[in-house]
Amino acid sequence: PAARTAVVAPGPGVTVLAGPTAVGKGTVSAYVRDHFPQAWLSVSATTRPARPGEQEGVHYFFTSPEEFDELVERDQMLEWAVVHGLNRYGTRRDRVEEAVAAGRHVLLEIDLQGARQVRRSMPDATFVFLAPPSWDELVSRLVGRGTEGPEEQRRRLDTARLELAAEPEFDAVVVNDTVERAADELVRLMGLDPERRSP
Ligand code: 5GP
Repeated sequence: PAARTAVVAPGPGVTVLAGPTAVGKGTVSAYVRDHFPQAWLSVSATTRPARPGEQEGVHYFFTSPEEFDELVERDQMLEWAVVHGLNRYGTRRDRVEEAVAAGRHVLLEIDLQGARQVRRSMPDATFVFLAPPSWDELVSRLVGRGTEGPEEQRRRLDTARLELAAEPEFDAVVVNDTVERAADELVRLMGLDPERRSP
């Protein structure tokens, strides 16, 4: 896919980063969180169990199905979705609103269904699609990270094929060739100066 840029209003606000499974959304957003202090990366709630090394409140808020139901019922989710047909993932509305009010540049790393929900409730947000350099590269990243078994890999690649077709819905497309370069382009779209990176 070709990179595509958008004219984006400068200043704080909400940027949504979506893209197919294994494209590196998590790596690029963690890089932005760690190198750009004005950026605020939203931590999602999920009903999936933690993987080895994942920390509560850093990677996710690991939430029971009952707690998740309650958040949805009390209308506390800005968006939520069942991802890969298995677990629920969602963004707490109050935390995002607080960060925006505090002048932070908010980044949401969510799936396509979630991005479409945010599009409806926050039409002024910036929607960025993270694309792989090629389909073969996406397949080798998914297989190479080895966090899913063969059946789950197949399920995720089926989803990825559908997700790639959604690229035209987005304001901008960033190709994840290298993490640093993709992150620079993303922070520019977030209204931050890529030169003002902390080590
Ligand atoms: P993983 O299980 O590999 O951590 O994440 C699986 C998928 O869930 C990824 O595509 C990720 O973008 C998506 N995801 C993570 N957090 C959220 C969220 O809060 N909302 C939605 N809609 N998707 C999410």
